[in-house]
Amino acid sequence: ATLSVAAILKERAERSPGATAVVVGASEITYAELWDQTRRYAGALRRQGVTSGDAVAMLIPNVADFPRVYYAILSLGGIVVPVHALLKADEIEYVLRDSGATLLVCAAPLLGEGAKGAEQAGVPVISVLSPEPIDDVPQLEKLAADAEPIVTYEPCRPDATATILYTSGTTGKPKGAMGTHFSLVEQANTLLVGTFDMGPDDVVFGALPLFHTFGQTCTLNTAFRAGAKIVMLPRFDGETALRSLIDNQCTIMMGVPTMYVALLEAARTIPERPPLRYAISGGASIPLAVIERFRKEFGVEIYEGYGLTETSPVATFNHRGSTPRAGSVGTPIWGVDVEIARPDVEERIELLATDELGEIVIRGHNLMKGYLHLPEETAKAIVDGWFRTGDLGRKDADGYVWIVDRKKDMIIRNGYNVYPREVEELLTAHPTVSAAAVFGVPDDVHGEEIIACVVLAPGADADASTLFEYAKDKLAAHKYPRRVEIVEALPVGPSGKVLKRALVAAYKTEPA
Ligand code: ATP
Repeated sequence: ATLSVAAILKERAERSPGATAVVVGASEITYAELWDQTRRYAGALRRQGVTSGDAVAMLIPNVADFPRVYYAILSLGGIVVPVHALLKADEIEYVLRDSGATLLVCAAPLLGEGAKGAEQAGVPVISVLSPEPIDDVPQLEKLAADAEPIVTYEPCRPDATATILYTSGTTGKPKGAMGTHFSLVEQANTLLVGTFDMGPDDVVFGALPLFHTFGQTCTLNTAFRAGAKIVMLPRFDGETALRSLIDNQCTIMMGVPTMYVALLEAARTIPERPPLRYAISGGASIPLAVIERFRKEFGVEIYEGYGLTETSPVATFNHRGSTPRAGSVGTPIWGVDVEIARPDVEERIELLATDELGEIVIRGHNLMKGYLHLPEETAKAIVDGWFRTGDLGRKDADGYVWIVDRKKDMIIRNGYNVYPREVEELLTAHPTVSAAAVFGVPDDVHGEEIIACVVLAPGADADASTLFEYAKDKLAAHKYPRRVEIVEALPVGPSGKVLKRALVAAYKTEPA
């Protein structure tokens, strides 16, 4: 059998050619136009020598050229290597070298780092989004105008690699997780049948970066599979996002928790509301207080899901139609097994019983093929067919999964295990707090010490000592943060997640 992720776009272009696929700013592109432009891009890339099995890197923000280039590479049977938009030249060089990319397609505004990284890696560059020709860098738009468009996509074996997504995991250099045509197509199909509730009338808000697995699968592939319209936002900030949600009459919001916090802040100054049907959160745990505030302010439920780059990403979801259990990441999606295993037994998987705390393990059609060039790392991560997530959690008698925290974020203070998430939930529940991050720093006396960085709600008036006393009053002695810092903002990475590592680094080197 053969299969291609590119079929997602082609099928829609044939079935609903006149429907809008993508909205960016004031421009709207139909499915037929998008597929036609994709076939032209593919023709141009083929002329540049791209063939089946070649890895092609792309460094493009959330604009229409992202899907054009993405599906063009896949149409040729090529492998997409999306590069995080914030990477610096040396990091880009690493991704290009490690993936063996033969070409980098780079948005003109990102050529500063992109072209430098590519030069260091000895990889040729083609630009998109370049209003004017740039010295030495060929423009894909121009090449496409002269090239013969491909007729249709190249069929692939289901287990052929479609994407290589770099993820840092616990330690060391980023690893390239290989997603297959099968795992990606099956995600889109499974999310549409019984998981998300999404159709051709939906307008999906696409602010999640498309170079990350969450945006790529849930926004791009699944929304296109549904024939929905995607509203793309190249750069996220709360006010722009809320205005765009309203102006484009979005019906489904997808985001990471920091985006929901930003929307709540923007809602204080923007009185209109978008006609949302529901919202989806994932990528990090969303505090219950944020779910409640969002329900009050926007009148809709946030459904939380869970997954990783290595699982394409969705593994569990609070399925639409079932009762969401706030605080839980829901039940496994169709065809995927999620269980809890003993975290201390490495060489095999020993499953634990209902309600027991352990490491979350995942098995099913959503698993990556492995880490590129890293058979040992792959063998450590996928044991007896189960993927070890590095996340700690429980599964209850009804099959709902509850995440306790990441194994690596757990703090050990005086020999007691402290899960930052529990402390963050408590702090965020305080009416003056909009977001909190809790982490441990090395400490001579206690092994690790607990620090909380807190962002106050707009207009709220509280001081660190009030919040310190509040936490001390509500939490056991080993759990409350010994230091509470009020900060303007928390550091977030390119996918919108709070960077715990950056906080640990900042606070361990710069004591109070
Ligand atoms: P990077 O690779 O960029 O360092 P990362 O380690 O966060 O990022 P991802 O694959 O983006 O890698 O994210 C997977 C992780 O995100 C999971 O292992 C889990 O810790 C966390 N996560 C995802 N969804 C949830 C959720 N709903 N609740 C809690 N944690 C979540």
